[in-house]
Amino acid sequence: MKQSQTLIPTLKETPADADVTSHQLLLRAGFIRQNFSGVYTFLPLGKKVLNIVEKVIREEMDAIGGNEVLMPALQSAELWHESGRWDKMGPELMRLNDRHDRAFVLGPTHEEVVTSIVRDEVRSYKQLPLTLYQIQTKFRDERRPRFGLLRGREFIMKDAYSFHLTDESLDESYQAMYDAYSRIFTRLGLNFRAVIADSGAMGGKDTHEFMALSEVGEDTIAYSTESDYAANIEMAEVYDDYTPATETPLTLEKVATPNQKTMQEVADFLAHPLEKGLKTLLFKADEQYVLVVTRGDHDVNDIKLKHILQAETVEMASEIEAREQLGADFGSLGPIAVNEEIQVICDLAVKSVANVTCGANEDGYHYVNVNPARDFGTFTYEDIRFIQVGDKSPDGKGVIAFAEGIEIGQVFKLGQFYAKELGAEVLNDQGRSETLTMGCYGIGVSRTLAAIVEQHHDDAGIVWPKQVAPFTAHLVVVNSKNAEQSALGDTLYQQLRDAGVAVLYDDRKERAGVKFAESDLIGLPVRITVGKKATEGIVEVKERTDDEKQEMSLEQLMAYVK
Ligand code: ATP
Ligand code: MG
Ligand code: MG
Ligand code: MG
Repeated sequence: MKQSQTLIPTLKETPADADVTSHQLLLRAGFIRQNFSGVYTFLPLGKKVLNIVEKVIREEMDAIGGNEVLMPALQSAELWHESGRWDKMGPELMRLNDRHDRAFVLGPTHEEVVTSIVRDEVRSYKQLPLTLYQIQTKFRDERRPRFGLLRGREFIMKDAYSFHLTDESLDESYQAMYDAYSRIFTRLGLNFRAVIADSGAMGGKDTHEFMALSEVGEDTIAYSTESDYAANIEMAEVYDDYTPATETPLTLEKVATPNQKTMQEVADFLAHPLEKGLKTLLFKADEQYVLVVTRGDHDVNDIKLKHILQAETVEMASEIEAREQLGADFGSLGPIAVNEEIQVICDLAVKSVANVTCGANEDGYHYVNVNPARDFGTFTYEDIRFIQVGDKSPDGKGVIAFAEGIEIGQVFKLGQFYAKELGAEVLNDQGRSETLTMGCYGIGVSRTLAAIVEQHHDDAGIVWPKQVAPFTAHLVVVNSKNAEQSALGDTLYQQLRDAGVAVLYDDRKERAGVKFAESDLIGLPVRITVGKKATEGIVEVKERTDDEKQEMSLEQLMAYVK
């Protein structure tokens, strides 16, 4: 590609509103442009890298038997009502109406659509297991789109869904997917870790997140210094002793509840600029689950004491049910108290136990004189122990350390949730109908691109790993007004392309200093400079990761780049 004939709008200055390196460099090197908050255009260089990332993903998905499809971004609201997520998803779901006032959704993910297709088209167990995947634009009305491609409102995702009749079959596909993800992120040159994750609002049991290690990551990972143990800290928290319930008569009294806030007040509170991430933590001990909603930064101690917004408990057989009952979506939870630390949890734990066990959840009513742990067998704050740096790893090998990570992918064993809600059944080998079980597997394609830049850059610009670079070689003519240099440049451009080398050719009549600075910024693996020795047929070759330059004849160059 000739630089004189493409669009690489580089910037000398760092844009003021870009606060992480990948965002700054992708803007400055002319890979992307922001259209508006959280929405980006991929310019020619950006699109090339995107294509490469997608190619690697496709190869690995196809290798494990994935079938590529393309589902619509525009989805009918009815499907979302069927699954119950129309209400559960809250404000992150992009909703719109057509001219007849029918409701639609711009897909944040495709469980509903894919399950409805399989429900309608797959009849027999003989067609299973089946894995469908797509690479497609997703829409999420993120509360705070930020960090460029890392958290967009429109972004590109690879999403895959597997369908099975048995848990064993799901286990196999999950493992195959997990292994494929490891190969994909390795091939993309990422330093990553697979961590035990929180199954969040989606329901589901086993789940891992793939985290690219990076300071700018919004997740914190607790990992063992000596083994493969690694978990999102949301899941790494463990519990001390837990006091079981005893039957105690309770009095219900109407009391003043100064701590109760309206949803609007809570929304205002969450929108406060100091806020750095809302977390819902689900704790478990014996048959009890406690959902704690916190706001705070990544300092575990902060989460621990200062920013607990809400706690609810429920006695449930499974985490999925607990989540459904408690409503992992913040918006679907009841009135919320913002109060002094431990007392809040106790109050709310009481309130929600009352909610579950007594059905007495009227505003303004509280149980009085109760000790939740004693009276309900639920948690007090002290029962929850947060994992700390230096703790023994849960697998007994090594001690815990923390790292920040960017979630680039996630694999989920969804189970039967969607298949049940949408009625996806097939005939088993006895000729009887059985509900399907499912896995779902996402990769943030555009986020991964940014994660690569977070891990591969220096002060001068991006340093693309060879396998993902938009071009292998940057051919730079020092003085394009000089006839010899320009002629050799043109010849080399043709020869390199004939030899199958992906080359970006800087044929512009720009100053040499500008060309070199931009070349470093763009960050292609090899730079070939045509300068003063053009008349002798000598060029200078430099790798982006190296300071050394080597002079080469054209034959040497062609042997070198092959
Ligand atoms: P996060 O915790 O960062 O909000 P998520 O857990 O909500 O991500 P998933 O539903 O697991 O995301 O979606 C699959 C993948 O899509 C994620 O692992 C991530 O790489 C990517 N992704 C999710 N949200 C965004 C976003 N707003 N912008 C870019 N990529 C995203
Ligand atoms: Mg999210
Ligand atoms: Mg997540
Ligand atoms: Mg996720």
